[in-house]
Amino acid sequence: MAIRKIVTKEDPVLRAQCRPVEKFDKKLWQLLDDMAETLYKAQGLGLAAPQVGIRRRIAVIDVGDGLIELINPVILKSSGKQRDVEGCLSCPDQWGYVVRPNECTVKAQDRNGEFFEIELKELGARCACHEIDHLDGKLFLDLVDEFVEISEEE
Ligand code: ZN
Repeated sequence: MAIRKIVTKEDPVLRAQCRPVEKFDKKLWQLLDDMAETLYKAQGLGLAAPQVGIRRRIAVIDVGDGLIELINPVILKSSGKQRDVEGCLSCPDQWGYVVRPNECTVKAQDRNGEFFEIELKELGARCACHEIDHLDGKLFLDLVDEFVEISEEE
């Protein structure tokens, strides 16, 4: 496994429309392993492939319930509303309130290409929506209704 470099918001790859994954091979598994390691090193909740320079529909999330690998994810349905402060590993030092669905059902493929559905709520739903937006070239900054200042305490 290896740590990949996380690109920041000026990089045009973050505005790209990502293409579906078609090959579920060792190269994909390597990327997924690297993305997980990069996510944990950065202490984030989620990471999408374009954030490490790859224009493919892949995201990994872990909001404390274990790692979820989402390949070619689609939001089947969503409900409710939550408004909370959000950040992004590609937008260091920027935080703001974003309204997201409170629950969503995501259909995706796993690393072997098998389809599955997962129901996510609260932080999990927020994180999945944020990462899936990345795959369509959208950043949370586009959705912020109020920016906040958070001072680094470390
Ligand atoms: Zn992000």
